[in-house]
Amino acid sequence: MSAPQFSVQRTDFDQIMVPNYAPAAFIPVRGEGSRIWDQAGRELIDFSGGIAVNALGHGHPALMQALMEQANKLWHVSNIYTNEPALRMARKLVDATFADRVFFANSGAEANEAAFKLARRYGHDVSGGSRYEIIAATNSFHGRTLFTVSVGGQPKYSEGFGPKIEGITHVPYNDLDALKAAISEKTCAVVLEPIQGEGGVLPCDQAYLQGARDLCDQYGALLVFDEVQSGVGRTGHLYAYMHYGITPDVLTTAKSIGGGFPLAAMLTTDKLAAHLSVGTHGSTYGGNPLGCAIGSALLDVVNTPEVLEGVKTRHNRFRTALEAMGSKYGIFSGVRGMGLLIGAPLSEPWKGRAKEVLTAANEESLMVLQAGPDVIRFAPSLVISEADIDEGLARLERAVARITQA
Ligand SMILES: *Cc1c(COP(=O)(O)O)cnc(C)c1O
Repeated sequence: MSAPQFSVQRTDFDQIMVPNYAPAAFIPVRGEGSRIWDQAGRELIDFSGGIAVNALGHGHPALMQALMEQANKLWHVSNIYTNEPALRMARKLVDATFADRVFFANSGAEANEAAFKLARRYGHDVSGGSRYEIIAATNSFHGRTLFTVSVGGQPKYSEGFGPKIEGITHVPYNDLDALKAAISEKTCAVVLEPIQGEGGVLPCDQAYLQGARDLCDQYGALLVFDEVQSGVGRTGHLYAYMHYGITPDVLTTAKSIGGGFPLAAMLTTDKLAAHLSVGTHGSTYGGNPLGCAIGSALLDVVNTPEVLEGVKTRHNRFRTALEAMGSKYGIFSGVRGMGLLIGAPLSEPWKGRAKEVLTAANEESLMVLQAGPDVIRFAPSLVISEADIDEGLARLERAVARITQA
């Protein structure tokens, strides 16, 4: 048995934690499916899914079983050795996608770091040093390490930390002419989120993504899709690129892939993988047996017609209710996104006030997300029940009614 523990409260956060977060007023202590209980025993509905992470909700039996079985066998060995769960999971990813090769990491930022380093390495190897530029989109989000905030298109995350990584150009999202003007023989990669998540739940236009693919082929640049948020069934396809029918050269996946356990991967082709030869890159924890056993079990559940079709059905349930709420209370100007990555942009009078909506939702025992100050975002479990969707939406309506009529 572990030693008895002393009690902790939300106020402790303000005293002992680095103040880079501003967590909600309550502390979640337990979860089951799409319900969460806080310290006071209050039950909340979870439409936030740990920011598009808890793809199968909380405590899903298949993940619990995989975790417990592997916990009894082997947690970690490092990459001095390979391990069975990593090889099984990599085989499943390769079989299910365009990719031939997998590199495991522990977070989205790390998977992107690997992708960007691969792109730079590829550029270096094919050009002798002149091909190093990375083109990314304005308002994009790729993680919080120095390289990933530099590639990310939100200056508020990259400024104030000294010199940024050089050789990165930002172009407006969904603007093919701007991409055409920026790309050159110096470009090693074009990096895009098929759906900008943090940037406001904005899907790429089909013609834009196709144009980006064609330009990359024409100029010999790699097309990198950051599917950290859009991947693993979130859109109703295993990956969003499958919805578009446009194949990247490199894809990064994290968030939902571990269902709540820190896990990420970079997927690529045989030809490109060869540029990361022995010793060029690495991670101590990347591909650890515990995480991969969970991710492997998660893929078995998510990559099935039942779950993927279910995501599309659930999308419609959300969309219908949110559209009705938007027009009844005049708070949303529309509903966008795919599958269970849904954004409700705030109408003109509510612009900049997403945080108020979140707080009101919390008070009605509902967890939702924002995507910037102007968009309410929903990223619940892919298997959330219809009853939980309806109850959560009823709670949201109470919150919206209260703040719009105040
Ligand atoms: C969340 C996110 C990341 C960063 O993932 P972390 O696990 O927080 O490092 C990168 N790219 C996209 C598109 C994301 O949504």
